[in-house]
Amino acid sequence: MLFKELGLSGEILRAVEEIGYEQATEIQAKTIPLLIEGKDVVGRSQTGTGKTAAFGLPAVESIDRNAGRIVQVLILCPTRELAMQACDEMSRFSKYMPWVKPCAVYGGADIERQITQLKKGANIIVGTPGRVMDHIRRNTLKLENLRTIILDEADEMLNMGFREDIEEILKYIPSERQTVLFSATMPPQIMAITAEYQHEPVVVGVQQKSRTVESVAQYYYEVPMGRKSDALQMLLLAFEPKLSMVFCNTKSMVDELTETLVSKGFKAAGLHGDMKQASRTQVLNAFRSGRINILIATDVAARGIDVDNVDAVFNYDIPQDNEYYIHRIGRTGRAGKSGCAYTIISGRRQAVELKDIACFTKAEITRCDLPARDDVIAKKTERVKEKVKDYISSGKYDSGYGELEKLTSEGYTAEQIAAVLLGMRIAKETRSVPEFIKPVFTPQGKKGRRTEGGASKIYISVGRAHRIAPNFILGALADATGFPGKSFGKIDIYDNYTTVEVPKSSEDFILESMQGQKINGHKITVRHYDGEKEAIRGRGGEKDYRNLPKKQGGSRKKSAGHTGHSDRERRKKRR
Ligand code: AMP
Repeated sequence: MLFKELGLSGEILRAVEEIGYEQATEIQAKTIPLLIEGKDVVGRSQTGTGKTAAFGLPAVESIDRNAGRIVQVLILCPTRELAMQACDEMSRFSKYMPWVKPCAVYGGADIERQITQLKKGANIIVGTPGRVMDHIRRNTLKLENLRTIILDEADEMLNMGFREDIEEILKYIPSERQTVLFSATMPPQIMAITAEYQHEPVVVGVQQKSRTVESVAQYYYEVPMGRKSDALQMLLLAFEPKLSMVFCNTKSMVDELTETLVSKGFKAAGLHGDMKQASRTQVLNAFRSGRINILIATDVAARGIDVDNVDAVFNYDIPQDNEYYIHRIGRTGRAGKSGCAYTIISGRRQAVELKDIACFTKAEITRCDLPARDDVIAKKTERVKEKVKDYISSGKYDSGYGELEKLTSEGYTAEQIAAVLLGMRIAKETRSVPEFIKPVFTPQGKKGRRTEGGASKIYISVGRAHRIAPNFILGALADATGFPGKSFGKIDIYDNYTTVEVPKSSEDFILESMQGQKINGHKITVRHYDGEKEAIRGRGGEKDYRNLPKKQGGSRKKSAGHTGHSDRERRKKRR
């Protein structure tokens, strides 16, 4: 549908045309006429659907130019980024309406400056609930003439604990008002707000196209425990996305991963809630301008970041909420472009979680093998050669001739020198390519079937002499592999080593995950255990424990001395 069919004024249509919107999106076509009519609306729609314009254009349209600079519209957003962006949008929409004065008020920024701005007069306020409440209490924001309140990303505001602030704010607003609510999900708490504070609301849903996010191709990679960072680097090096976002579940993981990527020479920066507003803005600006091209963020910090040309999203951690997955991958494939979402998983538990996400989103998430190390190296090598050729054709290499002559006068040939230099340069460029990552495949069998499909035995290089008990072994296995304890069979502890029955189909994965871990402070080695051969080698010994006590079967309890942390464990600690 065309914007001019929606009942918007000439000034707005001119601005919209200049911004470059041609057709109204579905949510815009459905909501704009209702909002212009003055109806209360519940819009079920996610970021990326054009919802900001859906409520923003009518909001701008509704400003009474003769009312002076009193606050007429209040837009509440969950985060400061979202508030800043929505406010910028209001300014863009009202470019030809000088009487419209938007103003953003959000936490983490100097309140005095906001007070000065409010004093100058604004008729559209865009803010976060806490800071808006703060201004109301200080009497620097007066809402007695407010005509429209818009709750943007209402579900997220409730998730962030803003319910009380929102309800308090609503008390300050005249009951004769238009109440508009946008939410990606409709949990009972949202329905309760709707029932209590809206008047005969019209519910507008858009096809939940983002449940399957058709414009985003979705892939996943299964990697051994502890190799996620390497896998991410391999993907970044192989695909070279121009602009990408990497999602982590915790602030500390954002910091850790940012540090790793920066140290490897990637142009990456982190974004999370603990950062000062100034540095968040700095990071976002750097990302928008492409000065950094990898943004590593938590879900909350990334909320509402409005960058259209993100071509890849990486889920470094599996999102804790299925909806988050949709939000995350919705950062790419926007504004008519296609994008890719890559999820990196380790261990059985994450495989199950991802399956659950695929089920929920009804999306096809295709399993892929990581790019081969040799291919990445070949690509980088090719780049070096291209660069050399570029230099030659540009003629910018005179400076090296002097030194070259000195070396050739010593008897070296120009060919030898060139080969050495090329080799050095290629070595430098490929030094940071991660080591080979062994492919893994976690079988998706049902839980609780001990070693079904045949058992194999593995050897672990610690035993009774190292004060090892079965729960130490089981804890280490469960942590390293993510498998539940009951996946493992009999544990036999000998003087100097231990054997464990494991599912044959997962033996390689288990060995890989366990290799080099520590149990009770002892670094272990593991390998396949072949009873007969071991007997010939004379490795047998007196058994200390035979069968595993039943109640420990499913336990994931960690033993005091065990130090093989899984990603999940680390995440929990940092939360
Ligand atoms: P939003 O859902 O409000 O976060 O908007 C997502 C992106 O779509 C933003 O970058 C908007 O600038 C863009 N957008 C909004 N409406 C339209 C439209 N009618 N045509 C093209 N792009 C749009």
